[in-house]
Amino acid sequence: MSNSLLPQNIASLKAYSSAKSEKLTGSTWLNANESPFNKAVELSLDELNRYPKPQPEAVIDAYSNYAQLAPTQVLMTRGADEGIELLMRTFCEPAKDSIAIFTPTYGMYKVSADTQNIAINELSQAQLQRDQISELSERIGSAKLVFICNPNNPTGSLTPVDKVASLAKALENSALIVVDEAYIEFAPEQSAVSLLQDFNNVVVLRTLSKAFALAGLRTGFLLANDAVLNPVRKVIAPYPVSTAVAKIAEQALTPDAVTQMRRQVSILNSNKSKLEAWLSKSPLVTQLLSGEGNFITLQLSDKTLISNAMKAGTIMRPFTLFGEDNWLRISIGSEQELEQVKLWLEQSE
Ligand SMILES: *Cc1c(COP(=O)(O)O)cnc(C)c1O
Repeated sequence: MSNSLLPQNIASLKAYSSAKSEKLTGSTWLNANESPFNKAVELSLDELNRYPKPQPEAVIDAYSNYAQLAPTQVLMTRGADEGIELLMRTFCEPAKDSIAIFTPTYGMYKVSADTQNIAINELSQAQLQRDQISELSERIGSAKLVFICNPNNPTGSLTPVDKVASLAKALENSALIVVDEAYIEFAPEQSAVSLLQDFNNVVVLRTLSKAFALAGLRTGFLLANDAVLNPVRKVIAPYPVSTAVAKIAEQALTPDAVTQMRRQVSILNSNKSKLEAWLSKSPLVTQLLSGEGNFITLQLSDKTLISNAMKAGTIMRPFTLFGEDNWLRISIGSEQELEQVKLWLEQSE
């Protein structure tokens, strides 16, 4: 096929490399912020000759119960990634509108915007944390969607809910504040969900991929009021969620399963504290970003340490941050997996 058929924004895309797309071989996987906990699911499927419910009520009810919202405030998506894409498809006009992001942050905001020919107003996490609301809203300018990843991947930094509220107020007539809470279960008191009582221009993104240990299921949620969700409902595919996925998601959201998730989160948080304490003493770690989420991001004295770990089968996620390419994000795995991290650094000293 001729390249000339491609729109310019698509022709100039770089292939997105996700944590899983690279052909890595390893034995310890700490590169995609997945949960180390795996649970067998039971599945009995009938009526696969029929289309699924567009929005399976059992899942919507269970999630709205978990999030303490009304069912009408919950939309199920194929992962939070689909939520990101849907918001842009619904609210942004290609080649005209823009989004605002605060870097370093999650890579999919840019990928989604680039594929849809939506401009990016790139601000920094430092500005988000430091600037007054008036200054911030001026910098955000005419951006239609403002993505606040909270806690932020990969820095772990938190944006106080009060600040999100003030920003929502300041931009009430000009932008949607999209709060990406992929890691909120690791810092639940910071959720912006309560803002939905007062704001129609706040959307919260959620996922079952991280604390709920179901990255393979591809399930996420958009939490918002009718003003946001009604138009998105017109844009989303007619049957986005397969019957099989809906059944498993329902099981993952029973009260018992939620209790189990919370127990696992506290284990991971404690594994993280231990690893953090250990890393902070390593002479090979020159900077440690201590924040929230099931990951630790750090700077190493030497970038070749990362390839040594890869060769030994311990796969972590390298990053270029603040212009330097010796950063690493380590997902919090089991104690046994984290032992491999210690072993690698000890043997490198
Ligand atoms: C992992 C992650 C997602 C993606 O979630 P899926 O539900 O797996 O698509 C979204 N946002 C952030 C910040 C993430 O780290």
